[in-house]
Amino acid sequence: MKKILFFSLLAVSLYSCKKTNLDDAIAPDNISAATKAKIANLGFGTSNIHQTEDGYLVEGDILLTDALLNSTPTQSLIRIANNEQYRTTNLVTVGTARVVTILVSNLGQAFIDGADLAIQRYNGLGLKMTFVRITSGTPDITILGFNQRAKGGYITLGSSGFPTNGNPYNTVKMNTNSAAYGTNPSVTYVGSVIQHEVGHCIGMRHTDYFDRSYSCGGTATNEGASTIGAILIPGTPSSADPNSWMLACSNGADRTFNANDIVGLKYLY
Ligand SMILES: [Zn+2]
Repeated sequence: MKKILFFSLLAVSLYSCKKTNLDDAIAPDNISAATKAKIANLGFGTSNIHQTEDGYLVEGDILLTDALLNSTPTQSLIRIANNEQYRTTNLVTVGTARVVTILVSNLGQAFIDGADLAIQRYNGLGLKMTFVRITSGTPDITILGFNQRAKGGYITLGSSGFPTNGNPYNTVKMNTNSAAYGTNPSVTYVGSVIQHEVGHCIGMRHTDYFDRSYSCGGTATNEGASTIGAILIPGTPSSADPNSWMLACSNGADRTFNANDIVGLKYLY
């Protein structure tokens, strides 16, 4: 089984969050031409779109809300090395410093510990944006559960969306089905998926969006228009760095920032 993310390979996990009933009820080809055009305009592929109660899911785990589809975000594309492209749409407004609060709602200890691990890893980078987990009040990002079985050899591990109006996307959904993380979830596995989903919440695209087969296997799929110029950050290596935390599919294990990811995050935040 594949896990989309995050797909994990042996189990490739899709980082996607399709509500089972909606996913069953609405076929991808029911998406209107007008909606497909808006999605393409934002630079996403239109071959695998799923409608959900919250919007449209692309690339497995990225939710495009109506608010995002109807916006005209300032696009910022950066390229690091030859094979890593961090294509952002809206970014979070940070200024000199910004604290992003995260609340884990109705999930088990592994998800709480996983959120803490992800927060610790982001905060360890020394960015102007820092994260803190809160247990009451209104957070910037809520981490919720959903329960969805595997389907077509893939299972969705989690999903999230992109920033709007200078704020992070407000929800990360994590699959609580035992087919996703087992009955006794690994904190590092769950934590690395949360780390990935929070990456989307602050504007990061899949590092391999230009060819998702890089991490997911199968046939080469360009998820987005890569003809728009991307800024190669000077001084970064020219060789591929294969373990980015923003790869589309999970390897089913712990995956954190690689050296290029850190360069990209520090450039943006
Ligand atoms: Zn993703």
